[in-house]
Amino acid sequence: MTPLTTGPAGAESEKAVEVLSHWIDGRSVEVRLEQTAPVFNPATGAVIGRVPRGGAAEVDAAVAAASAAFPSWRDTPLIARSQIFFAYRALAHEHREELAALITRDHGKTFPDALAEVMRGLETVEFACGLPVHMAGMNTPNVATRVDTRTLRQPLGVAAGITPFNFPAMVPMWIYPLALMTGNTFVWKPSSHTPGATQLQAELWKEAGLPDGVFNVVYGGREAVNAILEHPGIAAIQFVGSTPVGRHVFETGTANGKRVGCYTAAKNAMVVLPDADMDMVADAAIAAGYGSAGERCMAQTLVIAVGDAGDRLRPMLEDRIGRLKIGPGTEPGVDMGPIYSAEHRASIIDWIDKGVAEGAELVADGRPFRHPDYPDGFYLGVSLFDRVTPAMSIYQEEIFGPVLGIVRASTFDEALGLINAHKYANGTALFTSDGGAARRFELEVDVPMIGINVPIPVPAGYMSFGGSRGSAFAQLQMRGEDSIRFYTQQKEVTIRWPEPGKRAALSLVFPGN
Ligand code: NAD
Repeated sequence: MTPLTTGPAGAESEKAVEVLSHWIDGRSVEVRLEQTAPVFNPATGAVIGRVPRGGAAEVDAAVAAASAAFPSWRDTPLIARSQIFFAYRALAHEHREELAALITRDHGKTFPDALAEVMRGLETVEFACGLPVHMAGMNTPNVATRVDTRTLRQPLGVAAGITPFNFPAMVPMWIYPLALMTGNTFVWKPSSHTPGATQLQAELWKEAGLPDGVFNVVYGGREAVNAILEHPGIAAIQFVGSTPVGRHVFETGTANGKRVGCYTAAKNAMVVLPDADMDMVADAAIAAGYGSAGERCMAQTLVIAVGDAGDRLRPMLEDRIGRLKIGPGTEPGVDMGPIYSAEHRASIIDWIDKGVAEGAELVADGRPFRHPDYPDGFYLGVSLFDRVTPAMSIYQEEIFGPVLGIVRASTFDEALGLINAHKYANGTALFTSDGGAARRFELEVDVPMIGINVPIPVPAGYMSFGGSRGSAFAQLQMRGEDSIRFYTQQKEVTIRWPEPGKRAALSLVFPGN
């Protein structure tokens, strides 16, 4: 395996740090130090590396490499492509702990959580290993006299993926396996906040035997993204990230003639009916609200408690909050790591201040928390609000931090109406022991990913994933059958083999049977 670094940057800091590089045409590209940005370890606050800030030139080089690699990758027999996928799956599985350690180092989430992320990402790689089956088209004989039809699925060309900081392995693994298995080549623009696992994934593809140029990585922010949106050599883009950036990517990418799917922010709510198992609900709310410091698009950040459920649940949540251990994600027994950046930590504190000013009752206040051993780490305690109402901005907006809010509702219908009226629609859940209520929820809730007594209903890796309303700008979901459609041009071929010696008479009538 090639080394992670292109060289130490000791001149700039007291301690030498790693300098990462773009990955283009199967190799690291040398970068100048002045074109890099710092990478932090949120558990200590220390600068641990530098990541390049790419722009139009780097995107252009990556697209050139991907375009050159496309014809031969497109024509590589399915079984040969599949063998590379199996090799990649085996390598990524073998390196799962290394990937997880890099995620914990850069993001801050606990090591077991990072490992679970890698395993959930691998589910989609495993799905892609079966590509010879998935790529099968449809043949229909005798659609008319001696006429057959055939449906082909062909790759589009160069596809790009733009991904967020919070799942450095799982979210990209929901994108690139599908783009590659369908025969496209790929340019990945990852988040610059969590680059360690990115670099390793690129290196593992090379080791698995993926031809150079098929998989490329360009780091950067707005400039690199805008270059992707405008590049004539890119046919399709999948984006995962915040709503304002997702809207920009969708509008600009589609205006430039590309297929675009953007999966964006969320404000997920779980409804709790009075007949639910409250111990299970309390565990679920704590896990889904504070796991990964609330930095998950499928986090449950609102608990809509119906009837007396709120009064019974609140002390149970307080009790669990009191027992949570916050610290470095590498330490065994830690439940929640730090926030990924100092800026984001400050923005979460602003949201808590706003909730207090808006009149929500702050039951647990995470703002004063400091870790005694890591005073410079980006730690924050967990916060719990009660009496959150739909008029409040902490109800309406995504906070993306360890802040959970209880909303009181009188009836099931009121709770359902609240969820269906929210501007975001990513995931939701119902906790109940009433099968009839669960069935109604499943049919009537206007949110695409639903859990019944399951707080984080992320569908299995071979199924589709994605939200609606403000949580997605897309015609299709990502992964599964939807992504196969997204990444292929469908062709319908109509074929006639006339009976030997027999020719139909010339006719200008529109062809029928
Ligand atoms: P982000 O929007 O800041 O960044 C996403 C990507 O866009 C990154 O690669 C980033 O470099 C790039 N980017 C950032 N600012 C940009 C700009 N002004 N112009 C062009 N590109 C820009 O998101 P994030 O903070 O990395 O991730 C958190 C967000 O992602 C949350 O809103 C979360 O809900 C969402 N998310 C959604 C899903 C989903 O499936 N719906 C999954 C994970 C995360």
